Amino acid sequence: MSKIIMIKYGELSTKKANINYFLKTLKNNVNKKLESYNCTVFYDKGRMYIKNINDSDFDSIIKKLQTIFGIHEIVVGYEYDSLDFEQLKNNVYELVKNKEFSTFKVSTKRSNKHYELNSMEISRLVGAHLLKNIHHINVDVHNPEVVINIEIHHDNSVIYFDKYSGLGGYPVGTLGKGLLMLSGGIDSPVAGYLAIKRGVNIHAIYFESPPHTKIDAKNKVIALARKLAIYNNGVVNLHIINFTKLQETIYKEAPNDYLITLMRRCMYRISEKIMQSFKGQIIINGESIGQVASQTLTSMSVINKVVSTPVIRPVACFDKNEIINLAKKIDTYETSILPFEDCCTIFVPEHPVINPDINKCLEYEQLYDYETLINECINNHEILKISENEQKKFQDIL
Ligand code: ATP
Ligand code: MG
Repeated sequence: MSKIIMIKYGELSTKKANINYFLKTLKNNVNKKLESYNCTVFYDKGRMYIKNINDSDFDSIIKKLQTIFGIHEIVVGYEYDSLDFEQLKNNVYELVKNKEFSTFKVSTKRSNKHYELNSMEISRLVGAHLLKNIHHINVDVHNPEVVINIEIHHDNSVIYFDKYSGLGGYPVGTLGKGLLMLSGGIDSPVAGYLAIKRGVNIHAIYFESPPHTKIDAKNKVIALARKLAIYNNGVVNLHIINFTKLQETIYKEAPNDYLITLMRRCMYRISEKIMQSFKGQIIINGESIGQVASQTLTSMSVINKVVSTPVIRPVACFDKNEIINLAKKIDTYETSILPFEDCCTIFVPEHPVINPDINKCLEYEQLYDYETLINECINNHEILKISENEQKKFQDIL
C-alpha cells in the first residue's frame, strides 16, 4: 500500500479526440510545478497519480496543485496493487478501524467494468463488513460523518477520505497563446486569470509613459504579472512599451476629447504586432461594458476596428463587484489598488467622447505619423521574464 495523491480531471475528460494532448500537457505542468519535490507523476485516461511523496510534503503539494488549471479535484488516497475483494474489504477495515466516527457511507466508482462486482455491490458488501467488525457504527447515506470512497481501476484500487477542490479549466497552453493588455488596475489581472483558466498561455503587455508615469506604476504591473505567473505555468513574459512619444504626439496634434480613443487605437495596433511576434492568436483585456467612456459599445467598436485579431474581454459582462471579488480570490486586489497613476489616467480629457465617430478618428490620424511612432515603440520594447518564484525580488519591488 502507498499513500498517494490522485487527481480527477473533470471537464477535461470530455475532450475525447485529443484527450492525450490535454493530459500530456497537464502532466508537464504538474511536473514543472512540483519540480522541487522528489515525487513522481503518472497518468492514464481516468486519473493522474502523484507517488513517492514525503509525509511532510502532502499539504504543500496540494496547495501547489490548487493553482493548476485542468484539475477538478485532488484526493489523498491509499493505493493497492491487489484487486482481490477479500483483501479490499480488509484494507478498508484497517484504514478506518482507529478512526473516531459513528456514521458512515461507502461510495464506490468502478472504471474496471470487468470487475467481479458492480459498484453498488462493492459498497454494500464493504459496508456490511465494517458493520460486522466495528461496534457502535451505523450507515447514514444522507449525512455521514465519514465517506469512504473506493475506486476500482484496471491495475489498482484506491481508497480515500479527504478531497480538495481544484481550479477546473483547461491545462495552460492547450488552447494556444494570447497577449494580455495588463494595466495596473483591478480588471486586467482578472481578465488574464480567466483566459489562463481556459488553457491560454499568456504574455502581457504594459504601456508606460515615463516620466509622466512613475517606476512604482511599472513595478506594480510587474508584481501583478508575478501573481499571474503562478497560474501561467510559472512565467509571464511581460512586454514593456514606452508610449510617451506617441501619447504626447496625439495629445499635441489631435482634439482632446478624442485622445483616449486615438491612444487606445494605437495600443491595439501595437498589441497585435507584439502578439504576432510570439505567434499568439488573441488579445485579452480588462474592458467591461459601460465602465468608462472608452468602454461604451460604440467606443469599443471604433477602437477594435484597427485590428483583425479576436479581442477577448473576459470581464466584459461582469459588474465591478464581481470583478473585485475575483481579484481578491486570486490575490491581485491589494496590489491593484495601490495608488500609482497609469498612462491612461494622466492625459485624461475632461469630457472624453462617449460615442466616437470612426470617420473623425481616420481624419485625426492623418495629423500625425502613427505608423513610424508605432514601429519605434516596437523596436525599442523591453521584455521581462517574470517568474512566480522570485519572491525576494517581489518584496523588494513593493
Ligand atoms: P483596469 O482596472 O484593468 O486598469 P480600467 O477600468 O482602468 O481597467 P481602462 O483604463 O479603460 O479601464 O483600460 C481598459 C483595459 O485596457 C484594461 O483593463 C487593460 O486591459 C487595457 N489597458 C489600459 N491601460 C493599459 C496600459 N497602460 N497598459 C496595458 N494595458 C492597458
Ligand atoms: Mg486602467
